[in-house]
Amino acid sequence: MKRKGTSVLTALLLCALALLGALNPPRAHASGLPSLVVTGDVVREVVLTGCEGWETVKIEYRGAVYDGVPLLSVLAQAEVCGEQVQILLAAHDGVVAALSLDEITQDCCLFWHPENRWQFTAPDHPPQARVKDLEYVVVIGTGPEVPGVRFIHGLEESTVTYGTLFTADALQRLIKEGEARRGDCSVTAFTKRSLIPLGQFVGGAELPAALAYFADGSQLEVPLDGFLEWRGRSGDYLGPDGRTRRPDLKGLWLDPPELSVTQLLPAALQALETGRVLIVLLDGLGYYELIQVQPPFLGSKQVQRARTVFPSITPVALASLLTGELPPRHGITARGQRELQVPDLFARAAELGKDSVMVEGTTKVVNTSISPVLNADLDGDGTTDGEIFRAAQEELARGADLVFVHFHGYDDVAHSCGPFSPEAAAKLLELDAYVEDLCQGFTGTVFVLADHGQHPAAGDKLGDHGQFSLLDLTIPWLKWEQP
Ligand SMILES: [Zn+2]
Repeated sequence: MKRKGTSVLTALLLCALALLGALNPPRAHASGLPSLVVTGDVVREVVLTGCEGWETVKIEYRGAVYDGVPLLSVLAQAEVCGEQVQILLAAHDGVVAALSLDEITQDCCLFWHPENRWQFTAPDHPPQARVKDLEYVVVIGTGPEVPGVRFIHGLEESTVTYGTLFTADALQRLIKEGEARRGDCSVTAFTKRSLIPLGQFVGGAELPAALAYFADGSQLEVPLDGFLEWRGRSGDYLGPDGRTRRPDLKGLWLDPPELSVTQLLPAALQALETGRVLIVLLDGLGYYELIQVQPPFLGSKQVQRARTVFPSITPVALASLLTGELPPRHGITARGQRELQVPDLFARAAELGKDSVMVEGTTKVVNTSISPVLNADLDGDGTTDGEIFRAAQEELARGADLVFVHFHGYDDVAHSCGPFSPEAAAKLLELDAYVEDLCQGFTGTVFVLADHGQHPAAGDKLGDHGQFSLLDLTIPWLKWEQP
């Protein structure tokens, strides 16, 4: 009997430990040495468990010679993000030394010492750089392209990079994980957690909640008295209890638009009950670009702000437009995926006895329940928009109940010339005239919207999208009755 009780308690403790392990996965100990994790604002995390596989240099330390791995080699493998890079050397006992990447030379090394464990040596630096018993090397980069947790409030945006998150003010709190009991004795299991209050990043915003976007494409309204937890190259959201966890927070939108791309499907189905529906998708047209250009036709309609999904790219957003679901539910969460896991708008319309047509460009972006009418650039003018326009005219004349038209040209021009460029504005005027023409002679409900916007970029592309950012996520939403 006693034995059985012991085994139950053991099982409970093992479960608790397994749970803790799942939350804080142990680092690899392949060589038997405790590992050193190089993380933060890097492309990939590097875990150092020994010198094997690295080109080493000889380090002399207190009369003995050790194999050292140059920090620059490790950082090259991790691939540092951003500029003005700081390197934090963080020890298990809480000691942290910050060094500028510019001042790190080839003889700055990490080496394993039997007593001091992972240790840093930098002959030209002050002795405070020689941190012992290292746990992390955290890279902190600056610049707009450095990934991190992003915040949108009004037109303001800010990013706390994952490296910076390591330095954020945090509360140490014991979080209760569970209880076990045997006879008259009980034990309560806790984890001491380092909780980063979210409030410090939202600068006095008197808001109870914000819309959180997560890496898997899910969205959740979360209270702002919750926390972040640093995870190296990511950050988790923890609820106010410090325990409820949602992994890999991409961003928080403090004042998101009420309308979402997921609302197109129910709105279109409702409109289909009373008449025909024309949906025009202007790929890549951000809300703020439409507002700035004010094209004669669309500018005469009421333009509302709507939000798209993360990642803000065409297949993922188009799938949400066509299914009314967020990415984890419809199943398209990245480029190259095409299969929807839920019925699309056209299947739902068919259930109502309505027939649909989808007018597309050269390729199918996602596999829909109907075959799209594909259009190549037959006249060789560098865009399929003219061909799509003429095909849509024909389909509208044929009288389908639901006509979905996907123009691609704006996205192409915004990528090459930049959103807010004169070229993009000219493209929008061209599409505005197409939409006006399509509406001539059409009676029913018209929706005009985009899958995502674009933000200005540098390099060979002057516009890009896919991020959690105001310009990528805010799209126009127009709906009117065409008499
Ligand atoms: Zn797109």
